[in-house]
Amino acid sequence: MADGEPLRQGILRRLVSRPRTPAAFAARLTFEHVSHRYGEVEAVNDVSLDIAPGEILCLLGPSGCGKTTLLRLAAGVETPTAGRILINGQDVTKGPTMLPPERRGVGLMFQDFALFPHLTNLANVMFGLRDLPRPDAEREARLALERVGLGDLADAYPHMLSGGEQQRVALARAVAPRPNVLLMDEPFSGLDRRLREEVREDTLAVLRESRVTCIVVTHDPEEALQMGDRIALMRAGGLVQVDEPEAIYHRPVDIFAARYFSMLNEVLATVRDARVHTPLGAFAAPGLAEGSEAIVGIRPHGILLRPSGSGVPGRLESRRFLGDVELLDIRVEGLETPLRARSHERTRMPLGSEVGIAIDPSEVLVFAAPGA
Ligand code: ATP
Repeated sequence: MADGEPLRQGILRRLVSRPRTPAAFAARLTFEHVSHRYGEVEAVNDVSLDIAPGEILCLLGPSGCGKTTLLRLAAGVETPTAGRILINGQDVTKGPTMLPPERRGVGLMFQDFALFPHLTNLANVMFGLRDLPRPDAEREARLALERVGLGDLADAYPHMLSGGEQQRVALARAVAPRPNVLLMDEPFSGLDRRLREEVREDTLAVLRESRVTCIVVTHDPEEALQMGDRIALMRAGGLVQVDEPEAIYHRPVDIFAARYFSMLNEVLATVRDARVHTPLGAFAAPGLAEGSEAIVGIRPHGILLRPSGSGVPGRLESRRFLGDVELLDIRVEGLETPLRARSHERTRMPLGSEVGIAIDPSEVLVFAAPGA
C-alpha cells in the first residue's frame, strides 16, 4: 500500500461511518475498462471485471501491480482516469447515479486491522453502526462479535487480544454494517503463518454466512486458492487471468502466471512435430509453431523418483528434510541446473546415488518461451 497511516485512518473513518444499509443485499460489482494514473504511473490499466453477488474474488499479484489502487477505486476514494465502476449495474463513478464512498455500501478491512486502541472491542464494532439507535447498534455489534466467536471479549480492549482475535474484531466491525461489498486489503498478512490458516478458514465461514460480495487482496497464492471463488491475477496494472482456483492452477495462461502458483523446473526447447524434446522426454506443445522456442515448466511434485535403471537417469545431489516432504535436487545430463523434486516419501538412498526419474505429465506445463 502506497499511502501513509493518516490517509488510511481517514478512509476508514469515512467508510465505517457511512449510513447503514437496512439489509445485506450482496451487490454485483463491475469494472468496465477501468484505468487509473498517478501522474506518470499507470497504476491500473484497462481492467474489466464482473464480480457476482456473494462472490469472493481474490486479487493476486506482485507488489506494485495495482491491487490496492483497484480497491481504492471500488471504494470511491480514487476516481478512475478512464472507464466506469458499476454497483448493481449503476455507474457509481459519474453521472446521476454517482455515489461518494460513504454511500456505496462498501466496507473496508486493512492488513493492520486499524482498531481504535482506546475503544473496547464492542465500541470498535459499534463505531461502524453510529447511525443506528444505540441499543440497536449494541445488539448488532454483539451479534457480529458472537458471529466471529468473540462474544465473551466484547468489553476487552484490542491490546488485550491476540493477533488472530484482533483480526476477528476487525472482521466483525467490517461485516456488522452489512455492506453490499467488502474490500479486504491483505487481511491476514499481520498474522503468523500457522494462525493465518486458521483465521482464514474462520473468515471464510463468516463471509459465506454474511453473503457479502468480497474482494480479498493478497500476495499469497495459497491464500487465493483457499479463499477465492475466482482469482484475478494482476501484473503491471493489468489483469493477466481471471479464473476459478483449479483452472488458474492447472491451466495458467503463461509461464509468469504458472510461476506464481508454484516453483517450476524450467527447460527451454524447440518445437518439432508438435512436441518439445527435452532431456526429460518429449511433451506435447499444442498451439505452438513448428521450430519455435518453448518453455517447459515441471512442478517439483511431478518429478517422481524411480529405481536406477528405469526412466531418465539422474544422480541425487542434495536432500532437505521439511517434515511432511523432502526437497531433492537431482542432476540430469543435458540440464544446466539440477531438477528440484518434492517427495512425500522418505528417500533412503545416500547422496550421490544413481536414480531414475519419471515425469507426471499432469504436472507439466508448456508455453511459448517469453519473448519468442
Ligand atoms: P502492494 O502489494 O505492495 O500493496 P499493490 O499491488 O497494491 O502493491 P498499488 O499500491 O496499487 O500496488 O500501486 C500500484 C502502483 O501505483 C505502484 O507503482 C505505486 O508506486 C503507484 N502508486 C500507488 N499509490 C500512489 C500514489 N498515491 N501516488 C503515486 N503513485 C502511487
